[in-house]
Amino acid sequence: MPPSPRMPSRPPRSVVVVGAGLAGTRTIAALREQGFDGVVTLLGAEPDAPYDRPPLSKHLLDRPTPTLLRDELGADALALADDVRLGTAARGLRVLPGAVEVLTDDGALTADALVVASGSHALRPAGWQDAHVLHTASDAARLRALLVPGVRLVVVGAGWIGAEVAGVAAAAGIHVEVVEALPAPLAGPLGVAVGAAFAPWYADAGVTLHTGVQVARVHPGGVDLADGRSIAADVVLAAVGARPATGWLGDALPLEPDGAVRVDAGYAPEEGPAHVRAVGDVARRRSPRHGLVPGGHWDGALRGPDVAVRALLGTGAPTADPDALDDPAPYVFSTQLGHDLAMFGHRGPYDDLVLRGDAAGGPDGWSALWFAPGSDVLTAVLTVDRPRDVGAARRLFAGRTLPRLDPARAADTDVPLRGAVRS
Ligand SMILES: Cc1cc2nc3c(=O)[nH]c(=O)nc-3n(C[C@H](O)[C@H](O)[C@H](O)COP(=O)(O)OP(=O)(O)OC[C@H]3O[C@@H](n4cnc5c(N)ncnc54)[C@H](O)[C@@H]3O)c2cc1C
Repeated sequence: MPPSPRMPSRPPRSVVVVGAGLAGTRTIAALREQGFDGVVTLLGAEPDAPYDRPPLSKHLLDRPTPTLLRDELGADALALADDVRLGTAARGLRVLPGAVEVLTDDGALTADALVVASGSHALRPAGWQDAHVLHTASDAARLRALLVPGVRLVVVGAGWIGAEVAGVAAAAGIHVEVVEALPAPLAGPLGVAVGAAFAPWYADAGVTLHTGVQVARVHPGGVDLADGRSIAADVVLAAVGARPATGWLGDALPLEPDGAVRVDAGYAPEEGPAHVRAVGDVARRRSPRHGLVPGGHWDGALRGPDVAVRALLGTGAPTADPDALDDPAPYVFSTQLGHDLAMFGHRGPYDDLVLRGDAAGGPDGWSALWFAPGSDVLTAVLTVDRPRDVGAARRLFAGRTLPRLDPARAADTDVPLRGAVRS
């Protein structure tokens, strides 16, 4: 599969990268790794050197300083770029033929090409000014200062981040209640049947979970629920999702209703110019195997930029291996409430669910598999405390097409996952 049929009319000699997070860092590293010796400018709205976000929740209370990407990835974007402007947000964009102009409070920056890597921002519903969010290092520092033993915390949202924070806070002696509008934790990304298996984890961790009820109001003393109940709290955390941070683009690029930039397999905007690419949380990528894949997860921000830069520079085949794919399979990981989750692939809302192992728990963990409706085509695998399925699941999504599995054999834990593949 070629990276992208659309290339800039001439190779860029200058690139501006907007966003100094994971995707921005990997973009700059990929530019240099692929031999780009032109001028690279990096704009980052936050004042901090690029850091990793997953530890912000998992190590909220035991890691007081940000984990720098320079140390995590061995790639120092600040050293690799020619011009670094931290604490400088892009405010607007003008797309010109073969060039871009990025507007900042200090004036306009012109370059031959742009990589949009401005990530996402946490959602805070209107009127919830008394709720905290957790997205940046400074959000984490604020929360950390408040979350001391004996404090009462209400987390709104039993999604990935809400579950992680609830677990670490409860383990630190904080009284935690979680309110989730859907009938089960993680019901949005995983469905109610699988999410329901996680509900007991909350009680096991000493956390009270309320499902199927919305928060109607957040106030300094806690939250009021839509069913008339109230929960008193000293700290309220809104963990109700994130949206692409693309407001600064105005109407310079076509955006999806949620603000995402829909990109092709080479990360160029589908309806936009070829000298612009969008990577990481801002991008909704058209994958030949998985359909439209939203951003929002670490691995996509790690691996997408390499593909995007190859397409932008026209640096040819991805690797020496002619069968290597330029279509990273979606991968999400989480450590929550004492459990390890890894998900590969992309689950469709109507996919058929097959359980492998006992979702009520057990020493060997379990996995959930999803198949395209009425078929043997595997679309996604979730492993829960089951490392033995992780490598197999990753390899299943390494081919040019989605694998076909015998669902009955896949459900049988005596059969290795790879043994269920139909040739
Ligand atoms: C608390 C937390 C825990 C997470 N845990 C996991 C996990 O366990 N597993 C997983 O798969 N994913 C996890 N994620 C998601 C993962 O961290 C993101 O998918 C990843 O960071 C996306 O990288 P990115 O570079 O696209 O965006 P970001 O990391 O958001 O970086 C974008 C950068 O752009 C900057 N920016 C924004 N607007 C502008 C502008 N106008 N001008 C200049 N700069 C701008 C921002 O300040 C930010 O530094 C977690 C996220 C959070 C917040």
